[in-house]
Amino acid sequence: MSPPVRNIAILGSTGSIGRNTLDVVGCCSDRLRAVGLTANSRLRQLCDQAKAVRPRWIVATDAAAADRFDWSGLPPGTDLLHGPEGLERLVTDEGVDTVVAAIVGSAGLRGTWAALEAGKTVALANKETLVMAGPLVMELARTSGSQILPVDSEHNAVFQALQAGRRQDIQRVILTASGGPFRQLSRQDLANVTVDDALAHPTWDMGPKITVDSATMMNKALEIIEARWLFDLRPDQIAVVVHPQSVVHSMVEFVDGSVVAQMSPPDMKLPIQYALSYPNRWTGPSEKLDFSNGLDLTFEPPDYERFPAIELGFEVARRGGTAGAVLNAANERAVEGFLTGKLRFTEIVTACRSVLETHPFEARPTLDRLVELDGWARREVDKWICA
Ligand code: NAD
Ligand code: MG
Repeated sequence: MSPPVRNIAILGSTGSIGRNTLDVVGCCSDRLRAVGLTANSRLRQLCDQAKAVRPRWIVATDAAAADRFDWSGLPPGTDLLHGPEGLERLVTDEGVDTVVAAIVGSAGLRGTWAALEAGKTVALANKETLVMAGPLVMELARTSGSQILPVDSEHNAVFQALQAGRRQDIQRVILTASGGPFRQLSRQDLANVTVDDALAHPTWDMGPKITVDSATMMNKALEIIEARWLFDLRPDQIAVVVHPQSVVHSMVEFVDGSVVAQMSPPDMKLPIQYALSYPNRWTGPSEKLDFSNGLDLTFEPPDYERFPAIELGFEVARRGGTAGAVLNAANERAVEGFLTGKLRFTEIVTACRSVLETHPFEARPTLDRLVELDGWARREVDKWICA
């Protein structure tokens, strides 16, 4: 008997995670079908993906850009939807089983929220959603009975390692970090790095925002906050270790001292596939580790002085409330500022800390309040950019 086919919608299909997801779907076509694809700006690429995959729907989330585009090349049987309403229409359709949330930044919140409200399984790459509104998102998943399966490689590794023991026996979770392209740079040299330097990641091939986040190590800060909400951990149960080879994707230490790690080559196809195959495992497109010529794995403590973002992550994980939404939005805006040459590399984290410290903290914000503060934090960073 052939296995049941899972119908998936890929939010952000033209991005790095989106394209890797399509590779997984292509290799597992007897088990997975991409029924919906979405993109914001690269509409030619979206159209080409539709021709190759023949989804039921595509969504052009920027309705104005969609109006200007010539859609005559769209294959028959694929319907075009527009804007955020189109995205909601797609993720709530009863023909969709799993939603891959792979939009970058807080723009990913709306589609993820709608999918969870509709009770869908969400394969979550968009960590910013949890950073921004972790407690509300996890509560929504609980009440609607949806499952959130982590795609972020560290959290996917933790999710796998957690299956080796009981919840109450977790001592701590150890998130690994590659250290990014500037792991060995001095403080002075960090002040002068260029956009090209920051976009040259040594082990991972990712979209520009997360690549800059990896260089500042803000990515690890966001992942500390993501782990806190996703696995309901106390912040003091989360540790970070630098592991430049990106082979051990994270570890769980249990109370008896056993450390369970998940290892594989640095390739997002495996965590994506596991989030789609869970609780099963399938052969797929990912490379296997090769031990035949030896394998050097090294671990070192992070340098909190050169990479102050990490401490910011712990601080926000401890404070909760509005702190995550403010940090996330400030960082998104500051990264845009850096990528457009308006902010120096080291100013990204300095601006984030300043905005976080001055924000009107609330312990139990509503989603609307978080969205409001997201806008406020961006405007505060703009003062740095214009100054
Ligand atoms: P990317 O920049 O390569 O792709 C982003 C996708 O989001 C594109 O399809 C784009 O069209 C869409 N998008 C951008 N702005 C949008 C908007 N305003 N509204 C709707 N859609 C929009 O990003 P990526 O590297 O694939 O990362 C996607 C998410 O996955 C991020 O949250 C990132 O942190 C997370 N993630 C990525 C990796 C990786 O290896 N790339 C690893 C772990 C987690
Ligand atoms: Mg990660």
